[in-house]
Amino acid sequence: MHPGGASVFFDEEIPGQDVTEAFYALHRHEVLQRPQYQRLQIGTIKDEESVIFGRVNVPTLQKRFQKAVREFVDEHIYPDAQAREDDGKRPSLDLVDKMTALNLHAMRMGPGKHLKGRILMNGIVTPEEFDYFHELIITQEIGRIGARGYGDGLNSGSIIGLPPVLNFARPELRKRVADEVLSGKKFISLAISEAFAGSDVRGLKTTATKTPDERFWIINGTKKWITNGVFSDYFTVGCKTEDGLTVILVERGEGVETKPIKTSYSPTAGTAYITFENVKVPVENTLGPEGGGIFVILSNFNHERWVMCCSSARSQRVIIEECLKWTNQRKAFGKPLNSQAVIRSKLAAMIARAESVQSWLENLTYQMNNMSYKEQAQKLAGPLGLLKMYSTRCAQDTARDAVQIFGGRGITKSGMGRFIEHNYRTVTFDSLLGGAEDVLGDLGVRQAISKMPKNARL
Ligand SMILES: Cc1cc2nc3c(=O)[nH]c(=O)nc-3n(C[C@H](O)[C@H](O)[C@H](O)COP(=O)(O)OP(=O)(O)OC[C@H]3O[C@@H](n4cnc5c(N)ncnc54)[C@H](O)[C@@H]3O)c2cc1C
Repeated sequence: MHPGGASVFFDEEIPGQDVTEAFYALHRHEVLQRPQYQRLQIGTIKDEESVIFGRVNVPTLQKRFQKAVREFVDEHIYPDAQAREDDGKRPSLDLVDKMTALNLHAMRMGPGKHLKGRILMNGIVTPEEFDYFHELIITQEIGRIGARGYGDGLNSGSIIGLPPVLNFARPELRKRVADEVLSGKKFISLAISEAFAGSDVRGLKTTATKTPDERFWIINGTKKWITNGVFSDYFTVGCKTEDGLTVILVERGEGVETKPIKTSYSPTAGTAYITFENVKVPVENTLGPEGGGIFVILSNFNHERWVMCCSSARSQRVIIEECLKWTNQRKAFGKPLNSQAVIRSKLAAMIARAESVQSWLENLTYQMNNMSYKEQAQKLAGPLGLLKMYSTRCAQDTARDAVQIFGGRGITKSGMGRFIEHNYRTVTFDSLLGGAEDVLGDLGVRQAISKMPKNARL
């Protein structure tokens, strides 16, 4: 029986006729792809193939890479994302293993020594060829799934929690933890924010004090909103120490407790509240210099913010694609929505915003490819802060416009507007996580001012 009731079959414009238009006025194409309707497909159109639109002048290697990543995302990540968004469970470990086989976890950390000797995406790209544009492709292809909470659930904790280990840990610790995390056997989170300190990182209160023999840290305190924290095995923790802030790698064990926090997106992200009670950690787990944690934390933010810009830019494109299709198929007052100038004007603004974000992003990506990690930390914190602020503001404007364009469906969790509703509900995550919008804009301007000649005058 038709889920919308039997009356549809008695409508004089439906039975025995070409119902393409009537069908698409009320359904998403994916309805036809459900297993129970596969029997209705009587053939395929000869020579039809899917085409990837988007960046122009993309090198052939990147195109091949993008095609392979897209196929993987469509076949494996998309279905898991939709299922986990519904049941709220963590991303499937089976999928994590499939990603390990292609070295996707390692590639999501960006280019670097951790890729050495690995076969990437079945050998499409070598570790030496792999650059930030390849990583951008991975993040943006995953961004197409339209499942914001799941996007964070799928090892986002590692993307922000592992780099301090890769960049600042002692060799033995780095090797052990990197091997475990990049093979998908263990999970790691970045634990900086607290109820007391979010934007104001220097205000954090978790303490680490040394034992009298100076061989261990004793950590006490709490952390809030830690992505993947519910299921992570390791935590990269910002602590207050005698001479400033110090970042320490903590393994789940005695004295570490994690509890889920309910947020507006799905629990599949594993967002946690963490308590550390007299947790004993070897001093060898210190990441970077004692008292020099602020540099470790701030330099780590750059990659995190750039990744968030990649996914924010791609999500905006997803929403525009949805709107372009919808306004083409939805008819009101006897004509398609896209025949209304007001609607086209909204689309124009959306497209202009998304394209400007993507272009700026690619500009900064190019610069990252030509700078060392340290140079990026020194020169790009401001520009990346400004880009993230701009991107997340654009995303919010686009989310609001999209809801208007979709009407009631834009605020309905299932059916044709479900991605629009999801995006509208979760778009502000990008404007808060990894640094709040206003704070990042301010950072960009302050960095620009600090680079001005001191005696600059009109
Ligand atoms: C779902 C989720 C996941 C997260 N994951 C992690 C994680 O994995 N690891 C982690 O360490 N943290 C994580 N966070 C924390 C996140 O980074 C912080 O929420 C964020 O940095 C903002 O801090 P806050 O919420 O304490 O806001 P506050 O710092 O209290 O700021 C509140 C508001 O005031 C504004 N504001 C503050 N200072 C200024 C200023 N100087 N100028 C202008 N405006 C200002 C901000 O823009 C913000 O809108 C997560 C948060 C959420 C909600």
